[in-house]
Amino acid sequence: SQPSHFLEPTAKTAPNTLAIISLSKENFQPITLQQSDSAVDGYAEGVTLNTRFGSFPHSTLLDIPWGSQVRASVVDTGSRGRKRRRDEVEDEETPTSNQDDGNDTPSSAPAKRAVVASSGFIYVLRPTPELWTSSLPHRTQVVYTPDYSYVLQRIRARPGSRIIEAGAGSGSFTHASARAVYNGYPKSDADLRGKVFSFEFHELRYEKMQAELKHHALDGVVQLTHRDVYDEGFLINGQSPKASAIFLDLPAPWEALHHLARRKTLKGGKLDDKPGDWESPLDPNRSAFICTFSPCIEQVTRTVTEMRTLGWTDIDMVEIANHRFNVMRDRVGVNIPNEKGFSSQPGDVGEAVKKLKSDLKRTQDFHKGQTSQLVSDASESKMDVDGSTPESSSKDSNKSEDPLWLQGRVVHRTENDLKTHTSYLVFAILPREWDEAAEEAAMARWPCGS
Ligand code: SAM
Repeated sequence: SQPSHFLEPTAKTAPNTLAIISLSKENFQPITLQQSDSAVDGYAEGVTLNTRFGSFPHSTLLDIPWGSQVRASVVDTGSRGRKRRRDEVEDEETPTSNQDDGNDTPSSAPAKRAVVASSGFIYVLRPTPELWTSSLPHRTQVVYTPDYSYVLQRIRARPGSRIIEAGAGSGSFTHASARAVYNGYPKSDADLRGKVFSFEFHELRYEKMQAELKHHALDGVVQLTHRDVYDEGFLINGQSPKASAIFLDLPAPWEALHHLARRKTLKGGKLDDKPGDWESPLDPNRSAFICTFSPCIEQVTRTVTEMRTLGWTDIDMVEIANHRFNVMRDRVGVNIPNEKGFSSQPGDVGEAVKKLKSDLKRTQDFHKGQTSQLVSDASESKMDVDGSTPESSSKDSNKSEDPLWLQGRVVHRTENDLKTHTSYLVFAILPREWDEAAEEAAMARWPCGS
């Protein structure tokens, strides 16, 4: 079977795999690339992606390097296109470039042959967890990149880790955690494989996610189980997943915590005096690192109380407030900042051409290996950091001895806030148990006295 593009990057696009289409800076659409030899769906070119920037037969998107820019094609819309009245087509607005006006939802309407010819372009991107998060079909609230990148490092997710996740929801966190733990399947010992044990009790979400994991070739790394974890816990066919990292995105995480103990424990922290053949889902040889994700402080309070009762330590709570800053050089006479970003000042064509030439030269120099020089030059210039009106710096004076690209002020603007579902993150650690046998085993592995 094909390796997952999420885990093992390939150089080029391939049929029957996921690709993320970038329609504009903030607008991504996941598609499955399809090979078709004959007319499909009314198009002589076969399966075609239709967007407001034009039509893109999948044949033009296949077997090309990931990241390629693809221009719209003139497509033969066949009978469907010909049914459209000529005047209806000609009256429609012709997009001339991929301007992000916030209304660029992809269109499923038949392509307009003459009108959209080569008017726009898209980028074909290799799937990554970040792009999947930005484009996935939402079945629930999802965890966004600023949160999951922080969570994954706090719960020590790394190649070879075994993570318990509940609930799976739309699979945003699942994709990121699968990449974090993937260690290329060592053949020797199944327990050494990085794995995500994911749980979801909503049947339809479970089925959709199972199909997605298979399609994305992640089903070897993620084991999804249809289960109510409050009642049934986290064992897989009675066996321990031996997890050392846990992420709970559940409405009532405190209801599931007693299943994540080292001894059979009842809710509220009381040890069960009839443990039977109960197994802990945790790795007995490692401390367990947990994160719970809850939108309300009341949920946090109940979770923390239950954690304390069950012996979790180092409990703390974090809220991620993420902002993106766009840092750029504000050249007097070329770029005048406005509300929405930067626009060229009309009339100063000569300056603009000079800047384009100097940008080109800079790119060429960069590729000639002069990176370090450019970086040290740039680090001498002063940067405004207050995010409001940029102040002039000592380097602002457009000194003629400066290279063109170094002239002007370095300014920054906050960009639109990243989409993120603000929640409180509660972290805690359940230390591994330690006894004489553990001490002896440790000393045998690492005889520091010898
Ligand atoms: N973290 C997910 C993501 O990034 O896409 C979103 C999780 S969503 C907010 C919460 C999920 O937990 C829902 O899909 C819900 O069906 C599931 N869930 C709620 N209670 C559950 C339970 N007791 N056992 C298993 N899943 C549960």
